[in-house]
Amino acid sequence: MKKILGFDLGGTKVLAAVLDNDFNILSRVKMKANADLGVKSVYKVICAVIKDACDEAGIDVSDLSAIGGCAPGLVEPKTGLVYDTPNLGFKNFPLQEKLSQDFNIPVHIENDVNAGLYGELHFGAARGMENVLALSPGTGVGGAIVIDGKLIRGSRGGAGEFGHIIVQPDGPLCGCGQRGCLEAISSRTALSQQILSFAVRGRVPLVIDEAKGNLKKVKSGLIARAYNSGDEDVQAIVDYAARYLGVGMSNLVNSFNPEAIILGGGLIEALPEPFLKISTKVMREKAMGVNGEKVKVLAAELGDDAVIKGSAQLAAELVR
Ligand SMILES: [Zn+2]
Repeated sequence: MKKILGFDLGGTKVLAAVLDNDFNILSRVKMKANADLGVKSVYKVICAVIKDACDEAGIDVSDLSAIGGCAPGLVEPKTGLVYDTPNLGFKNFPLQEKLSQDFNIPVHIENDVNAGLYGELHFGAARGMENVLALSPGTGVGGAIVIDGKLIRGSRGGAGEFGHIIVQPDGPLCGCGQRGCLEAISSRTALSQQILSFAVRGRVPLVIDEAKGNLKKVKSGLIARAYNSGDEDVQAIVDYAARYLGVGMSNLVNSFNPEAIILGGGLIEALPEPFLKISTKVMREKAMGVNGEKVKVLAAELGDDAVIKGSAQLAAELVR
């Protein structure tokens, strides 16, 4: 039986895995994306990771029936053209077409958050559901939509950009140029910035001790340790972010009437309790009637495997 390959092109690394027809992972290979060396170099890394994952699984590339991959940015739904990836420098790059030609097999390229939700839908927290949304607060706040079991991508692949729904007009400035977007308040980046601004005033001792003023070191794990150590400033900052996540969720619930919202990403993994509890409470208070009562808010189950398995599932659907 032929195998399927799934890969996850992230901002700093590329992860690939070979899967059997029951979507069990047979091999896993990870490499640095080398984004600073340019798009051609990143493409070479993708090809190398695909070949290495096949070697590791003891198969030849010709034993694959299809390749499914994802990119961290806007992807054109039909052609898999990658419009734009902020960290990798891809601009209108025909990733799907190029891989399909170079490996001579069907390839599907998807936005990473979409692929992750599709993985959770088929193999994880949303198994058996038909109408689900994803929200993942990280560098930004990613979002994805499944209606009637299908991914909703919009006319140009931009559907589900929930990080930029405005929850606080005149709120903090967002990277997109607007004010009060959900990700300007509830992303890990927004949390890190606020926590560091407290560090400048000599507060948040654990953060001062470990991060020493470096924003990049204020990661989810450190935020969680400070929160769980009882630091009231960090607790107030996190709880505020979780409340606004709930405000965003109430708008989504009224727009899409989902069975569940799946919260994913490193920040949720590190601090599941406050994010799930507080955002759910606020969402139920603000959403309209039955919509808010019935919807479940669940933590993602598959971690990094969600995008790999979702990408592989989308690839398998090409050849079925
Ligand atoms: Zn924005």
